Amino acid sequence: MKRGNDARFHSARPLRRGLRTVVTGGAGFIGSHLCDQLIQRGDVVICVDNLFTGSMRNVRPLLNHPGFSFYQHDIREPLTIPGKVDRIYNLACPASPRHYQRDPIGTMKTCVMGTNNVLELALLKSSRVLQASTSEVYGDPEVHPQPESYVGHVNPIGPRACYDEGKRAAETLFFDYHRIHGLEIKVARIFNTYGPRMLENDGRVVSNFIVQALRGAPITIYGSGRQTRSFCFIDDLVSGLELLMESAPEITGPCNLGNPQEFTIEEIARKVIAKSRSVSDLDHRPLPKDDPQRRKPVIEKMATSLGWEPKVGIDKGLDATIAYFSLNIASSSREAKVANIDSARAARARLPKRRDARPQPALNGHAKQDDMR
Ligand code: NAD
Ligand code: UDP
Repeated sequence: MKRGNDARFHSARPLRRGLRTVVTGGAGFIGSHLCDQLIQRGDVVICVDNLFTGSMRNVRPLLNHPGFSFYQHDIREPLTIPGKVDRIYNLACPASPRHYQRDPIGTMKTCVMGTNNVLELALLKSSRVLQASTSEVYGDPEVHPQPESYVGHVNPIGPRACYDEGKRAAETLFFDYHRIHGLEIKVARIFNTYGPRMLENDGRVVSNFIVQALRGAPITIYGSGRQTRSFCFIDDLVSGLELLMESAPEITGPCNLGNPQEFTIEEIARKVIAKSRSVSDLDHRPLPKDDPQRRKPVIEKMATSLGWEPKVGIDKGLDATIAYFSLNIASSSREAKVANIDSARAARARLPKRRDARPQPALNGHAKQDDMR
């Protein structure tokens, strides 16, 4: 399936066919790519999303597909899906620090109450269920690189805790439903993932740097820029999620999913500037509290048990992402221009004709404001 302006780097291999699959958070960045892939395989896909950070734009091409349906719902409320459900991918949760800190209590509730509702649905339908967990469960790690056996170093009361501790609690719930109820579970610990459909205002490093570089704006480096991350391209991640979901029942995870190529944030900034032929300079800003210093996954578990490893290196992945944002920024500013022209025309049409334009004194200010809104 084509994704707007870029072809997939992976083709859908016939893992299995014709399942009925729920994807929570399916209108988000990762979720919408996963929905594309599952539809391409022949699944019936039910996308559940409250559109907190997701967008209908991400799933619009799927809306006319007979196998796809969209259900606007907040997973903090109990989830009712008629008919059988074979698989549930639980991706619903804002992932960017900017967005999860916008509503920290809501984020924690999504991770705990929302995950519990998803697990109850899985229990009722005897579905296999996968949790999109995160490298954030390792916190600011004291072990490097991070294997799944590392139990982490998380500040439970800091600004990132709503997400980090929420995701840790979600893993706990998954494993307790597995132990107590025998539910078939899979837990994927996802490391920083990037690619087309990240939000322009997402606040995450790759999208920020690309948007800033394309606009010729300063590249905002938080702290020294010597902190590291390991970046996985979206297509590799989606193939890893699917492989894990379709693995033998005894493989529960947690399994790290990420690309072990590690870069400093400043290296990423310089790559983005060079690739987008930008004139932007680096602009150092304060480091946010509890920002992890290093992050790199050990992926032996996925490699040895399922033969998965990422195929898309940083250069190819950044090129595809820059191409997406180049088109996207251009088209959104074109759309904004057209919208501005349309609303200016509409506002002009609503204005009184020049000859009777003298307004009633008492209404003057309000009338004008309302007309121009
Ligand atoms: P995203 O913000 O683009 O997508 C999250 C989706 O969940 C959005 O569509 C949002 O509207 C929806 N959502 C949020 N709260 C919800 C709720 N209460 N009920 C229903 N829908 C809700 O983020 P993403 O990058 O696509 O991340 C998807 C999942 O993967 C998240 O669970 C995230 O924690 C996990 N993850 C992502 C990364 C990454 O680098 N992108 C890394 C680690 C883990
Ligand atoms: N970062 C940065 N400039 C930005 C956005 C992020 O220097 O404009 C840094 C951030 O401080 C962190 C790293 O890039 O060290 C990755 O940040 P992101 O929010 O993408 O992911 P996370 O911190 O959750 O891994």
